[in-house]
Amino acid sequence: MASPGRHPRNRHRGHYDFPRLVAACPALAQHLRRNPAGEPTVDFADPAAVRLLNRAILADWYGLAAWDLPAGYLCPPIPGRADYIHHLADLLAAERPGPLRALDIGTGASLIYAILARKEYRWSVVATDVDAGALAAAEAIRAGDPDLAAGIEVRRQRDPERIFEGVVHPGERFDLCLCNPPFHASGAEALEGSRRKWRNLGRDGSPRPVLNFGGQPRELWCPGGEAGFVGRMVAESARHPDLCLWFTSLVARSASLPRLQAALRQAGAARVRVIPMGQGQKESRVLAWSFRLPEPSAPEP
Ligand code: SAH
Repeated sequence: MASPGRHPRNRHRGHYDFPRLVAACPALAQHLRRNPAGEPTVDFADPAAVRLLNRAILADWYGLAAWDLPAGYLCPPIPGRADYIHHLADLLAAERPGPLRALDIGTGASLIYAILARKEYRWSVVATDVDAGALAAAEAIRAGDPDLAAGIEVRRQRDPERIFEGVVHPGERFDLCLCNPPFHASGAEALEGSRRKWRNLGRDGSPRPVLNFGGQPRELWCPGGEAGFVGRMVAESARHPDLCLWFTSLVARSASLPRLQAALRQAGAARVRVIPMGQGQKESRVLAWSFRLPEPSAPEP
């Protein structure tokens, strides 16, 4: 099935404008290469290059001067991350006009969804993670920009088996939550996933250690993998149905969907949506659910 491509409001829908990005972040210049067609590019398998590309994009799009990432943490491809935020804005548009209050589960060292939500839509965001190093990096990004500092709060989840409980305050309410869950079911599987990605990028045999591909082992795996994580989200959401108007998560494996949809039916979700996303080979989707029916004044989209 053809992937849907970038969201129409995505700022990045074609080739990167490298001269402009280098102007925004001169250090990127040392990583520029030529592709076989002779066009400028960077080595997307090199975390140092992608880190500087991200810094350049965030400086160019949003004037963000202080974004950085400690070595070894997951370095997100920003255009793909932006798609999720735009699809969420569409999902909520009919029911909640105006800036939303969002909960970003597992924000990572990059704080990426919280940044995009704030800068694209002025949402206020509570961003959580379990990893102390990721939280320190996210907090440094937040503190380095007055607008992010005003609109984003970073919180630590101490129990990796919990999603909402222990990190949200009693009576707290959000318009939505979003999540890019740890994907693999074990450290060994995460390592094999990195190797496969490495081979697909044509780097097999390179001396580069695969664990440095980008991503701490703990951020790449959790018990039960992605389906386990989102399954725990479903179960907790059913215990706190009013916490968010819409609960959402990325689901990278389509094979995980039937089980999750069955769990949602059993949990009594009033509405369930699957929003296709992705570009080229990288197909993904957002699973969204709500325990509330739309208010009569807000017609269904
Ligand atoms: N949002 C970032 C990072 C995704 S990786 C991005 O899209 O690039 C998944 C993140 O979830 C990791 O940072 C990991 O530390 C975090 N995580 C794992 N279990 C968690 C839990 N129970 N609650 C909150 N975050 C968790």
